[in-house]
Amino acid sequence: MYPNILRHPGPTPIPKKVQLAMDHDMISHRTEEFVQLYRETTKRVKPIFGTNQEILLIPSGGTAALEAAVVNILSPGEEVVVITVGAFGNYFVSICEKYGFKVHKLEKNWGDACTEEDLIQFLKPLSNVKAVFATYNETSTGILNPIEKLAEVVRTYSDALFIVDGVSCIGGAPAEMDKWGIDILVTGSQKAMMLPPGLSLLSISEKAWRVIEKNHTSSYYLDLLSYRDWAENGMTPNTSAISLIFGLSAVCDLIEEEGGFSQTIARHELMKNMVRSAMKALSIGLLTSDEYASPTITAIWAPKGLELPLFLSHLKQKYYLDFAGGLGHLQGKIFRFGHMGYCFPSDILQAVSLIEAGLQDFNYSFEPGVGVLAAQRVFLDTHRM
Ligand SMILES: *Cc1c(COP(=O)(O)O)cnc(C)c1O
Repeated sequence: MYPNILRHPGPTPIPKKVQLAMDHDMISHRTEEFVQLYRETTKRVKPIFGTNQEILLIPSGGTAALEAAVVNILSPGEEVVVITVGAFGNYFVSICEKYGFKVHKLEKNWGDACTEEDLIQFLKPLSNVKAVFATYNETSTGILNPIEKLAEVVRTYSDALFIVDGVSCIGGAPAEMDKWGIDILVTGSQKAMMLPPGLSLLSISEKAWRVIEKNHTSSYYLDLLSYRDWAENGMTPNTSAISLIFGLSAVCDLIEEEGGFSQTIARHELMKNMVRSAMKALSIGLLTSDEYASPTITAIWAPKGLELPLFLSHLKQKYYLDFAGGLGHLQGKIFRFGHMGYCFPSDILQAVSLIEAGLQDFNYSFEPGVGVLAAQRVFLDTHRM
């Protein structure tokens, strides 16, 4: 089999140890063995969310957990603010509109972040907002919104709940759900969590539970009160994504082996800096500013003079290097370099080197080696012998 160097912002490569853990003989989700697995594993995930609350597991894609967050806290006609800085923020808008909530859309240009000041100005004239929704890491543009600051603004200027889509960064970016005051934090398995698709994880604040308890939820499968009831007994209401939970336990092992979650975050920060330095050295443009650059995905403009779809399919065919293209109006204009989860500085050096080889095939004008050297320098400067 030919290799597939998967550098998408999800799904992402699966570590061998996780694959082997998922190969466990099937067990029933109504056994003592499962209860123990569930309890231990969800407890070990808490530091990744920065919470003391329970971690709930839904056998679903990330979108279902986002939908759960929406339907459990709101009733039709209620007002919400959705911060959108790209394609995934817009999905949040669609979910809210589908259920008949009145959406105030705080929209920024693709490639920009939502700043504290943006949110203050937007929230001030509104008086009846029940929830503010934000994307932590916008996967379509590689923007990391300043979530800690936005959480503070929500608390200061409203009584609204603050709901955060962390699907493409939790596991690779800092998260202090309790300390920052996030009311619902959601992620999925197939991005920075190093698992296959099919499991979503979420955690809920006391304040949000009080709202959920009073709210009438129209969803059966996504009724979070039922997830909470079953979690008390170490189970989920319906059949769990059992294999993925075995995998999740191995993910927690890997994070421990790395030296704890702060080391995992530092590795993502390092990889971001390596990619950005390499592209700058190659005179290839970056969509976002350094200030709000994502630690898990970098959006990169087409190298000057190159037909991007042709270049990407060439990288894939000749070098087995697989990047994601742009979404929406950025399709054909940018490509997205995923560096999250099971990805290391050595993988960045490999990808940059192969990009350089591809650039030479296309007669792009540059000094071969400058990108690799720039990435190497960042690595060496961070890890001095
Ligand atoms: C991938 C992604 C989602 C959707 O997750 P699915 O598992 O595809 O449902 C939602 N939000 C963000 C930010 C994502 O990156």
